[in-house]
Amino acid sequence: MDKSIGQNLEVWLDFRKDITPDSEIRMWDFYGGRQWVLKYVPRFGKTIEAGCGMGRFNFYLSNIGLNMEGVDFDSELIKYLEDWQKKRNIQTKFICSNISELPYEDNSLNCCISLGVVEHFIEGPGQPISEFYRVLKPGGIAIIATPSIHFANAFHHLKLKIRKYLKKIFKLKLQDSPFFQYWIRPKHLKKIIEKSGLKVSRYGGLDLLYCFYEMGKNEGNNINPKSFSVFIANLFENTFLANFGAQSFTVSYKPGKNMLCFLCGESNATQESLSEFDVPICVDCQKNVQSEYYKKGKAIKYSLPYIIKPPVKPVTEELCEYCGKKYQSDELFEDFGFTKKVCPACIKIKEINIELSNKFIKPIWRKRGQI
Ligand SMILES: [Zn+2]
Ligand SMILES: [Zn+2]
Repeated sequence: MDKSIGQNLEVWLDFRKDITPDSEIRMWDFYGGRQWVLKYVPRFGKTIEAGCGMGRFNFYLSNIGLNMEGVDFDSELIKYLEDWQKKRNIQTKFICSNISELPYEDNSLNCCISLGVVEHFIEGPGQPISEFYRVLKPGGIAIIATPSIHFANAFHHLKLKIRKYLKKIFKLKLQDSPFFQYWIRPKHLKKIIEKSGLKVSRYGGLDLLYCFYEMGKNEGNNINPKSFSVFIANLFENTFLANFGAQSFTVSYKPGKNMLCFLCGESNATQESLSEFDVPICVDCQKNVQSEYYKKGKAIKYSLPYIIKPPVKPVTEELCEYCGKKYQSDELFEDFGFTKKVCPACIKIKEINIELSNKFIKPIWRKRGQI
């Protein structure tokens, strides 16, 4: 049997016919996960986005100074993305590969991001996650998300379960629809990830809003901004109720000797740091102000309530709040989703970037479709 490449290509061709890198970037919260990615992606070494699709994070994180590579099994898509970025004058790298057989050496990467990908493997998400473990350096970070079984699709799941038992008991030959994906609760995802050897340091649910979208509370491609669902999501997205949200989100590290320090990139983080912090940190860096953001239990909060359909802004002249110099806002990324004004040079400074990602994050954007 051929190795699964995570669903057949036809399904994906259909899925992506209405989206473009622009539309994906303008929805770059990734279903409420952007603040997690920004917080936990290491600023040193190479990061891959495994199953990058339209390359949203590959483009975004490259632009804020990270060394990124996007991996996807669809060679046509990669060609399209390479052409697209040429026109935009963005320089990031794409690799065509099946993510359950990554073209990287053992212990060679600082981070793997994989959002909404591993649930599409019919054999289950174990193989690609083991690959992430293999290619990460000790102390490297994996950021893995899948859809969760949330309140809006719980009934659908119940129906599937009943159908499965009926088939078994009565030996019925019911036709199943083609496999698309698994839905995995946060706790279950943690279990699966830890089987690979990775250790999960943060996990939970997020994106209450999307559940309402799935219930049909939407206007075309967008959730109605004046709806009750937006009101509820604004109230509860930062509470335990987020566990009933549409996404399971996890942050893990690869344990081992000489782990990478999250804050300086040296292989000198201590095992003990992991009882106090979410990520491995060396003794010296534990004294840095940035280490405060990574203390266990520190939540990430939006600095504004949800904006569902933000207007696309023209390029404007701004004043950087870090260096005081004037700069032009980015045509595509605008203010990069931060509430504090920052110029293209300052945004690439690791300490500034970490501060922005922990303190000045904007809320979810829901603009989708062609722009
Ligand atoms: Zn350090
Ligand atoms: Zn500046």
